[in-house]
Amino acid sequence: MATVRAYIGIGANVGDAPSTLAAAVHALAALPGARLRGVSRLYVTAPVGVVDQPEFHNAVVALDVPAGPDADTGAGALLVALKQLERSFGRQPRERWGPREVDLDLLVFGRHRVDVDRPPGGESDDPTKAGLPLTVPHREAQQRLFVLAPLEDLAPRLVPPGWRETVSAAASRRRAAEGAAAVRPVATWTGDGWRALD
Ligand code: ATP
Ligand code: CA
Ligand code: CA
Repeated sequence: MATVRAYIGIGANVGDAPSTLAAAVHALAALPGARLRGVSRLYVTAPVGVVDQPEFHNAVVALDVPAGPDADTGAGALLVALKQLERSFGRQPRERWGPREVDLDLLVFGRHRVDVDRPPGGESDDPTKAGLPLTVPHREAQQRLFVLAPLEDLAPRLVPPGWRETVSAAASRRRAAEGAAAVRPVATWTGDGWRALD
């Protein structure tokens, strides 16, 4: 079966975020037809947007997934699976950029650019996002250090479709803008769970 290398951003800032994200990695690895290819370090990151909320934990997962008959369909099916997982982790509808149990974003879907209406089941629980199409690469990924830093762990030389720079160059650019302290690596993936860094 043809597969596509997808990169998925995972984040949480409610409850025991590291445990939630570890469970999310296992759940992603267990998706039908999926194969786990890598897990970034775990980062603690300052909230963006709504700043008066707990710090986030973020990581990125590399996952080979079924390509589907075409990229729109394959990416759409993955988005639906991500939204189902978010619900199974008890994500509650809340304010935009506010606290959440777990957020799973489709960052990159191979070399494909996708811009389609979301399939049924792929919609956001956030009413301000109700009409958004599915866009891949994720439209904010290139400007968010909390995405770029963990993505750089897995794919520093990747140039996602539509970007004019590598992941590593984008991360350096955002580190200069946000300050290196904006994202702190705190743990590595052991294959089973997180192990704290010294
Ligand atoms: P942001 O998209 O800025 O990271 P968010 O993760 O807080 O915001 P959600 O409440 O999760 O936003 O809603 C995201 C909405 O955007 C969903 O309706 C989803 O269908 C849509 N969407 C579009 N492109 C993507 C993508 N690449 N990955 C995940 N969701 C996407
Ligand atoms: Ca997000
Ligand atoms: Ca999201």
